[in-house]
Amino acid sequence: MKPQPISEPIPLFRDGATATPNSQGAAAQNSSGTATQNSHGAKAPVLDATVMMVDDEPMMTDVIQAYLEEAGYPRFVSTNDPIGALEMIRRERPSLLLLDLNMPHVSGFDILQAVRLDKELQYLPVIVLTAMTDAASKLKALELGASEFLAKPVDASELALRVRNSLAFKIYQDRLATCDPLTGLPNRSTFMHRLDAELSRGARDGEVVGLLHIDLNRFKQINDTLGHGAGDQLLQLVAERLVASVRGTDTIARDARSNPGLISRLGGDEFSVLLSDLGREDHAALVARRIRLAMQAPFQIDRQELFVTPSIGIAVFPGDGGDAATLLKNAEVAMYHAKQQGAAAAEFYRKELNVRSLERLKLENALRRALERNELELYYQPKIAILTGHITGAEALLRWNHPELGMVSPTEFIPIAEECGLIVDIGEWVLRTACEQAARWELAGHPPLTISVNVSRPQLAQNRLIDVLMPLQRSNRLGRNRIVLELTESLLMDDAEASIRMLGTLRDMGLALSLDDFGTGYSSLAYLKRFPLDELKIDRSFIHAVPTSPADAAIVKTVVVLARSLGLRVVAEGVETEAQLRYLAELGCDEYQGFLYSRPVPVAQFELLRRERLACTA
Ligand code: C2E
Ligand code: CA
Ligand code: CA
Repeated sequence: MKPQPISEPIPLFRDGATATPNSQGAAAQNSSGTATQNSHGAKAPVLDATVMMVDDEPMMTDVIQAYLEEAGYPRFVSTNDPIGALEMIRRERPSLLLLDLNMPHVSGFDILQAVRLDKELQYLPVIVLTAMTDAASKLKALELGASEFLAKPVDASELALRVRNSLAFKIYQDRLATCDPLTGLPNRSTFMHRLDAELSRGARDGEVVGLLHIDLNRFKQINDTLGHGAGDQLLQLVAERLVASVRGTDTIARDARSNPGLISRLGGDEFSVLLSDLGREDHAALVARRIRLAMQAPFQIDRQELFVTPSIGIAVFPGDGGDAATLLKNAEVAMYHAKQQGAAAAEFYRKELNVRSLERLKLENALRRALERNELELYYQPKIAILTGHITGAEALLRWNHPELGMVSPTEFIPIAEECGLIVDIGEWVLRTACEQAARWELAGHPPLTISVNVSRPQLAQNRLIDVLMPLQRSNRLGRNRIVLELTESLLMDDAEASIRMLGTLRDMGLALSLDDFGTGYSSLAYLKRFPLDELKIDRSFIHAVPTSPADAAIVKTVVVLARSLGLRVVAEGVETEAQLRYLAELGCDEYQGFLYSRPVPVAQFELLRRERLACTA
């Protein structure tokens, strides 16, 4: 395969265009002989630019042709018949149109208008030739989309200048449309086009095509802490190293020197490499290895040394996807898996990887970073004593303020955090935050509030909970029963005997214990008696049905009686209506939580609620 210029083969300059948006950095990828850049001025602009002219006077077209030949543009087509002009433009597809305005039957304005309305021709540069010097015609031509003007009679050197400028500008525009301006690399749409073409070729010739999807670890952090300027510099340097390392893979692709692989910036800190005509699949892994090695040295930015590692996913055509979109998606899936393995990993796509969807993987990765980036927040939902109407405490409920998705519900991300083990760190953050909040409230001197914290299964393993809470209790000087741990039945029943011991220790440490979601599990009453608990929370599904379902009402009644007999406080959650509250009051339920009183709210709002309440009852 021949090296291909980044942009489509619009007329190029023999000796360098003047108007490329980025003539340094990674754009060097393109400098393989066709010379679209390099910057010393404009000499003879040439190559295969076809210039077309429409003018009703044969004399004019002859003169212009001669001028253009002189200036180095041998390809010239023209017509003196304005009626057939549009059709000819469509057929000839010139790089530039010279258009006379004043013609019989069909004017230059008409042609210009038709050109701009044509999807295929709308970006064609048009230089308008006119004897008319009046401002109105010029304005009209400009409004219709003329690129330049040339006054008749035409001066040869002015013509050459205008033609050259128009062509240079066209190249510049094409580059803008096809390249990433920051790095000079092909952009996503160009890459996808090329990938499409490579896959068709690969399918025809039975060739293997490799696709690497590269994402930088910790890039956002660098961008956030050092600023976008530093982030941009880093991306440029990364692009350069990518180009250099992929080019250097001369033992890899069959004819690597002429086929260094197409590198593109897909957006943000994502890059991709297309390896056409791979000799063997595992050659893609060699390229990935080179890229990782190339990234090992520190990046020098603003006199700072930065270290950045890439995560690389690899998908290979035809096995991992028969079209560009599928192949790219699967490389991305593999990349996310690589990312989970930590620093600088590369991974091949495997069918099993898709079992868990891409969205889910993205969420998992984002969650990993949520803690570092301070995206987690605790909301507090008041717990109210039914008898007095006073707020006795709050349940801390986790919220994830995701930069793109907005507030993500804990029901969405906690199961994921539990599965990938992140809940241990997240749970520790929740406990620390809750203890510090409890200490602040205690210091504020109001009647003491409790904070209830939900606990997950992985947090119970190996006495982790005790190890985490012991120093927190001490450093925050928390009084007894300020922190309530909410545990579910199924969690305690995993190993009931061990649970009994652990609960005993926690209680000795001054924590209160609550059995959450009561009624949804399969509690053995025998154990219930032996768990050292302080509180039962009736699950909101029962409360929800209370006014309409006698069966659920009966269950609630039984639970309250049971809790009484065990000496436990009873809390109803999910109370939404006055009717529900009245029923719970009749039964002698102690406390409730629910939208009726308040949704979970940020801490400042919770404090406001509480102050209002104190003011009412004072
Ligand atoms: P949960 O422990 O049962 O928490 C109560 C849930 O009920 C909360 O949902 C709360 O917003 C919601 N709720 C409260 N009052 C009402 C009401 O009147 N009507 C209705 N329909 N719902 C009400 P949220 O905040 O979405 O939390 C969902 C679950 O996520 C929690 O269920 C808990 O299992 C888990 N979770 C929340 N924060 C944490 C945490 O920090 N750690 C762990 N491990 N789990 C947490
Ligand atoms: Ca709870
Ligand atoms: Ca619950």
